[in-house]
Amino acid sequence: MTIANIKPAADLPAVDTEHTDPRSYPHGVAYMDGQYLPMSEAKISVLDWGFLHSDATYDTVHVWEGRFFRLDLHLDRFWGGMQRLRMKIPYSREQVTDILHNCVALSGHKSAYVEMICTRGGSPTFSRDPRQSENRFIAFAVPFGSVANKEQLERGLHVSVSEIVRISPKSVDPEVKNYHWLDLVKGLFDAYDAGGETALVLDENGNIAEGPGFNVFVVKDGGLRTPAFGVLPGITRRSVFDLAAEINLKAVAEDVSRSDLSGADEVFITSTAGGIMPVTKVDGTPISDGSVGPVTRRLMDHYWKKHSDPAWSTEITYP
Ligand code: PLP
Repeated sequence: MTIANIKPAADLPAVDTEHTDPRSYPHGVAYMDGQYLPMSEAKISVLDWGFLHSDATYDTVHVWEGRFFRLDLHLDRFWGGMQRLRMKIPYSREQVTDILHNCVALSGHKSAYVEMICTRGGSPTFSRDPRQSENRFIAFAVPFGSVANKEQLERGLHVSVSEIVRISPKSVDPEVKNYHWLDLVKGLFDAYDAGGETALVLDENGNIAEGPGFNVFVVKDGGLRTPAFGVLPGITRRSVFDLAAEINLKAVAEDVSRSDLSGADEVFITSTAGGIMPVTKVDGTPISDGSVGPVTRRLMDHYWKKHSDPAWSTEITYP
């Protein structure tokens, strides 16, 4: 499927770069049931198990200055998730690549947040047997979004640690990117109540796990550490390991206690939604002198430079 011979199902609206009305859909293009649609027309049945039971897996890749960033790694994770959940879609990896590309190209966005989703779907006979469901594939491209806003990126985020424990990896496999977010959303409300801007939640051993849509790193004596247990293996987290190897920084995945966090030289979080983002306060107390540290700055700089490197990114062809 190339951009020349695809037809959107309806006229797509002009790019709304000033998306200020929270009740409206962001400008974007979705693909479902064989058609490209404006975001406002991309709808699923409320009987879909993805909605009723959170029975779905998904992945999000971003586009920056007209290039996908590490798309292959996102596709690997998405395919791995579908396999573990015993889901199947009628598209090959190459076809999904084309669909994602076309959503971005038709949207016109040069910087985009691009999601691929597989839901369990539903059974034509309303059977409760998941094996009888027809799995549903959906993709969409909307404007790029970030966990941290511009001001927070400059001065560092203020994070609060919630007492909430992330769902156990014995219950939900964290390698399958999923929408089990009730713990993360409770963590966010706890953080707001405590005066924080976002949250970190704990693992079942009382160590730091992750936050709503991001992994976390601490920097101590020039080395990096990120939680290993019960967290999504983030692609941005993986990118930090790759960058650290390139610039000779030691990086390990192992337990991070609450005191490792508060006693760190630097703290940052990582997500496709925003990249590497500094944290300068935890539970109201500054990390070191409360400014964005040199290791974080260096990694941020390298990370964004990689977005134009053909080994890490692929170009979009716009119509
Ligand atoms: N942890 C959770 C729970 C997430 O949902 C996400 C991303 O949405 C991440 C971590 C970060 O992963 P990535 O770097 O692949 O965006």
